[in-house]
Amino acid sequence: MPDIQQIRADFPILHQQVHDKPLIYLDSTATSQKPRQVIEAMARYYQEDNANVHRGIHSLAERATASYEGARLKVARFIHAPSPKEIIFVRNTTEAINLVANAWGRAHLKPGDEVLITQMEHHSNIVPWQLVTQATGATLRYVPITRQGELDFAALDQLLTERTKIFAFTAMSNVLGTINPVAELIKKAHAVGAITLVDGAQSVPHLTTDVQALDADFLAFSGHKMLGPTGAGVLYGKRELLEAMPPFLGGGEMIREVFMDQSTWNTIPHKFEAGTPAIAEVIGLGAAVDYLTNIGMDWIHAHEQELVSYAWDRLSAIEGLRILGPEPARRGGLLAFTLEGVHPHDIAAVLDMFGVAVRAGHHCAQPVHDFFGIPATARASFYLYNTLEEVDVLTEALEKARAVFGV
Ligand code: PLP
Repeated sequence: MPDIQQIRADFPILHQQVHDKPLIYLDSTATSQKPRQVIEAMARYYQEDNANVHRGIHSLAERATASYEGARLKVARFIHAPSPKEIIFVRNTTEAINLVANAWGRAHLKPGDEVLITQMEHHSNIVPWQLVTQATGATLRYVPITRQGELDFAALDQLLTERTKIFAFTAMSNVLGTINPVAELIKKAHAVGAITLVDGAQSVPHLTTDVQALDADFLAFSGHKMLGPTGAGVLYGKRELLEAMPPFLGGGEMIREVFMDQSTWNTIPHKFEAGTPAIAEVIGLGAAVDYLTNIGMDWIHAHEQELVSYAWDRLSAIEGLRILGPEPARRGGLLAFTLEGVHPHDIAAVLDMFGVAVRAGHHCAQPVHDFFGIPATARASFYLYNTLEEVDVLTEALEKARAVFGV
């Protein structure tokens, strides 16, 4: 059983004061903090192994390549991918989705085809599909959400038709917290002959992920939200889809041969990794995967469930506070809320004075906020290093914020 104080001891950044108060970091949905194991793995690479990967014959290049490719294997095992060849390193979820929208979308979409997404998507799973449907003449459709902040399944059944070529949806909303029934959604899409892209930015860091059990065609996620550094993200794709897809970016490493008039492509995953990759960051992501695996994803999920249930009860008791999205049992470890009479930015600014870091705004999910008729929310999000005592401080700080604004 992991010990929370031992976990916290691994995160140097947590042991500081903000405005003379102990830092309470409740913004892991935006980006997680990094344990020293990740920071040290990256420093070790720069201090001992720094060299470019794949092309070198010398020892440093071989060690760098072994660490970089070792991280690919760790990530493949973490999401139960059949092969590390199906793991493409990109910068983040956004780039992974753009890769599929461009490489797969431009090759397969035409007028009359439909791309289906949902109203609870992050902008990174909306805008790439707007761009590619505009470019190809295909139509973009949205599964609506309900007042409870869940997908409207009756509407989904109407919207999924033989015209749907791809259904791209989030496994977990970064505003509503809703955990979607990914396996069921994929099954429904496959039943009409559509492929699927799962936005795993909020699910992979917090829940066990098995792409084979889910039968996911594509899965996108960001290393920086799962204890890794910024700059290293992942696109998982089924081998046959990746092999059939044209490249997204052209350049070194992704080619087999280059002639003056044409080029041929490298095998996967290299076909999609043009240029020098984020080597240290990918190695850091590998160390993050080791860390999460050692702690155990089941424990992390159970811990976050305890935190979010407790926070739900405490915050719901505050007068004028309204939480968006479903009850704790059907959500992940985050709560986005409004407080009557106080702008979310003011909530975040007051909480900061108490050392509590939360995010305020539309969280790159404007259509969700439009649906609820509000411009912004404040959001507290939890991860493996947060405690029940921190939820108490958040609650007390919110009560004080009400007093400050006289509501
Ligand atoms: N999808 C969801 C659900 C997210 O929460 C985020 C980031 O908050 C993203 C996609 C985009 O992630 P990134 O900015 O790392 O590309």
